[in-house]
Amino acid sequence: MKNIIFVAPPAAGKGTCSEMLTNNFGYNHISTGDLLREARIKGDDLGKKIAELMDSGALVGDDIVLELLSNELKSMDNNQAFILDGYPRNILQAKTLDNLFNELSIDNYIVIYLNIDYDKALSRTLGRLICPNCKTGYNKDTTSLKPKVDGICDKCGEKLITRSDDNEETFKIRFDNYIKETEPILKYYQEKNLLNIIDATQGVDDIIKEIERVI
Ligand code: AMP
Repeated sequence: MKNIIFVAPPAAGKGTCSEMLTNNFGYNHISTGDLLREARIKGDDLGKKIAELMDSGALVGDDIVLELLSNELKSMDNNQAFILDGYPRNILQAKTLDNLFNELSIDNYIVIYLNIDYDKALSRTLGRLICPNCKTGYNKDTTSLKPKVDGICDKCGEKLITRSDDNEETFKIRFDNYIKETEPILKYYQEKNLLNIIDATQGVDDIIKEIERVI
């Protein structure tokens, strides 16, 4: 089974797909967004800096994210396939990841681009809910992703919340950042013959079927 790097605009479904692939195939899901959300909860100086950047829609500094990611990759079981959700987000991070993979002798991976347009991604963002405890994602506007009981996590019973950066104003900045910073890495991976493009506007089961074909 191949390791997966997801590249996608905000709210394309990286988190939802990662969760399903983790449940179905035993992937280890590494989300830099989740690592940063954990770091910000600590409330120390670094946590405050991360919170400010995330809530403004900006990217967090490359060095901060790299340290969290590299600790995670180095501590993981080498035999377990992993999904990278949220990294790399710019060319520098893509090159840094190449070096990190070399250092850790990781070469069995593909890149999956989940393609979605601005309006659909915005509408998903505004319906998104997450469980602050087990991190399961839901969407109140998508039948297959609604929780069984309104506002409550199916898995652990915790009250669901809206992410602090899931509002229209911040979404616009995140999407603009995606176009400027992240989209150029598609070409980078295309040239390495690693890129797989999947239509993220289909239902999640169809997306997973397409992913199954390439992993
Ligand atoms: P996500 O959960 O992937 O939507 O990420 C939420 C936020 O975390 C982003 O809007 C960024 O502020 C920050 N973030 C996540 N991954 C990265 C990364 N690789 N580089 C910089 N900032 C990141």
